[in-house]
Amino acid sequence: MARFVFITGGVVSSLGKGLASASLGALLQARGFSVRLRKLDPYLNVDPGTMSPFEHGEVFVTDDGAETDLDLGHYERFTGVAARKTDSVSSGRIYSTVLEKERRGDYLGKTIQVIPHVTNEIKDFISIGEDEVDFMLCEIGGTVGDIEGLPFFEAIRQFANDQPRGQCLFMHLTLLPFLKASGELKTKPTQHSVKELRSIGIAPDILVCRSEHPIPMKEREKLALFCNVRPDSVIAALDLKSIYEAPLYFHRERLDQAVLDAFQITPAPKPNLARWDDVADRVFNPEGEVKVAIVGKYTQLEDAYKSIAEALTHGGMANRVKVRVEWVDAELFDREDPAICLQGFHAILVPGGFGERGTKGKIKAAQFAREHKVPYLGICLGMQLAVIEAARNVAGLTNAGSEEWDHEAGQKRFEPVVYHLKEWVQGNHKVERKVGDDKGGTMRLGAYDAVLSEGSKVAGIYGSTNIEERHRHRYEVDTKYRDKLEAVGLKFSGMSPDGRLPEIVEWEDHPWFIGVQFHPELKSKPFEPHPLFADFVRAAKETSRLV
Ligand code: GLN
Repeated sequence: MARFVFITGGVVSSLGKGLASASLGALLQARGFSVRLRKLDPYLNVDPGTMSPFEHGEVFVTDDGAETDLDLGHYERFTGVAARKTDSVSSGRIYSTVLEKERRGDYLGKTIQVIPHVTNEIKDFISIGEDEVDFMLCEIGGTVGDIEGLPFFEAIRQFANDQPRGQCLFMHLTLLPFLKASGELKTKPTQHSVKELRSIGIAPDILVCRSEHPIPMKEREKLALFCNVRPDSVIAALDLKSIYEAPLYFHRERLDQAVLDAFQITPAPKPNLARWDDVADRVFNPEGEVKVAIVGKYTQLEDAYKSIAEALTHGGMANRVKVRVEWVDAELFDREDPAICLQGFHAILVPGGFGERGTKGKIKAAQFAREHKVPYLGICLGMQLAVIEAARNVAGLTNAGSEEWDHEAGQKRFEPVVYHLKEWVQGNHKVERKVGDDKGGTMRLGAYDAVLSEGSKVAGIYGSTNIEERHRHRYEVDTKYRDKLEAVGLKFSGMSPDGRLPEIVEWEDHPWFIGVQFHPELKSKPFEPHPLFADFVRAAKETSRLV
């Protein structure tokens, strides 16, 4: 049976709970333990799939097709353990399950209440697959004291009480603000936050204190005394230059030791941190720099493209270069010539997206990359728009468009090069969708196989002709136009195994122009950079030598 670590946050949000959890996972792995990380989110959306990336950052998709919180991306990147549907849950999901059961009559006439029905549902969720790993790390979203969070805090309190002693541990992340005037780190907000936790029956075993300054011994002792933890369980979380330094950093801070001590695991197995030493070496000792433009819509919030930014960093690590990413608002090209803005970049990436806004600019970016032989990686919408660009500007289909936003209006017809996908095959069953279906969870989601053409650029990059990648989209490039596009040099070099759905396109006579219908960024790891990102950055490095 797994040991459970519950990670909560206090004082303010955005303290880096996800990263601290992911780092702890990586450190436990380095000591030979198996881990799984989970996120419990108090918001009422059933999943983050329907939330704007402006509000909540990117939606991370799992192999088994769940749309989840971006923290699951950190978990995967740090541990290499593929997240599953059952690793992310929200209040919305919990309540909808409880209400479904109520409607079905599963509760046999009982009055349905937060305690025990909602809390039981949460506890059941926490324990899914508990026999499979040594440690289950469960992070609770939000901060202690939030109204929505209460059922989750109550559930983990009960859960720990249901388990044999010593099976569960509570780790609480807080903030130590620094008062410039008095030159002091203040511990009071942390004391209050712990008091709040204790008032709902949870006594933290470990405090991880985010701080801009090192925490002097005196403050650690004070925190230990007032918050009732051991002084060596007060862990400082200082700002780091790179997130990939975090596992080594937390190891130096003895976080993993504190956790093993709390579980009385003695002697603690020695850690093997070679993987993280290598990662840090690559992050901190680059031998050059490349500049990549991401032409997108959600450029104000970098979290909206979190996995892409990280995958580019990994690509840089593979090539020992630093990747400088600049976010370019696609709508800029409505007014300006893209050449003015894109000239200085060594590569261009157009990410996924939904809706028409910004598509004109992205099409111009694809055209610029094609014409100027700049490496181009188009992801999902970025692939669809590259195909529309090719159809309009090279294959002579001047009215090429996408059913996502082009509608037959009046006399003006358009060529639906990208069309709404209404049925497809998943494993060995057929999935069907109607236009008016719910917005949540109705896309082609999760891992699907693709077959790559022998001798294509992508087959060379992957070193294989059979791949599996994660998807999240409603629309597809129509194979009806394949012959026309291939005739002008845009090859359909990756297809679904049944040959119906284009997965990859590449320009034949271009140094590096690839569009993929899936999201390769979701599977990239610092210690295992995704081949497409590694090769994209290699191509950018090549360009940087030429300019
Ligand atoms: N909007 C497009 C579709 O639904 C692309 C989605 C995406 O880029 N993730 O097919």
